[in-house]
Amino acid sequence: MALSERIERNVDLSYFEGKIPVNYVYTYGLGLENFFRSIKEKGEFLASKCPECETTYFPCKVFCERCFAEITNNYKVPGTGIVESFTVCHLNMDGSKKETPAVVGLIRIDGAEDCVFVHFLDISPEKAKIGMKVKPLLKRKQDRDGSIFDIVGFKPM
Ligand SMILES: [Zn+2]
Repeated sequence: MALSERIERNVDLSYFEGKIPVNYVYTYGLGLENFFRSIKEKGEFLASKCPECETTYFPCKVFCERCFAEITNNYKVPGTGIVESFTVCHLNMDGSKKETPAVVGLIRIDGAEDCVFVHFLDISPEKAKIGMKVKPLLKRKQDRDGSIFDIVGFKPM
């Protein structure tokens, strides 16, 4: 469609080529708000436990994903854990090759063992091992912005 083309009937326009600016606000929701605020402001990690079925969650939740019970209490965990699995990423999101491969792990967090947490492992692919004990590495407090990237990654203990 040329820019000078005039569409007389809206039913003749089936698609549009170009870029449309889209503004949006993403909210974490109540549970993740508590989780990220705690990391940003205190450097502390929050988990939660369902009062009905006792399932533990990391990050903390406000409702149980298994039985839908309301969860009103969070508790601190050290953020340490065990690598359950990992993968090595060689490509960026746009398909270009990464300068350095990234290692992404599934981490079972101590004190919230009913789930796993996905994040970068701060280790070379050759040194990553299932079962290794890891601890979180945070950005400096003044550099934290309340996002998942306030956690730089998890490094071996
Ligand atoms: Zn439950």
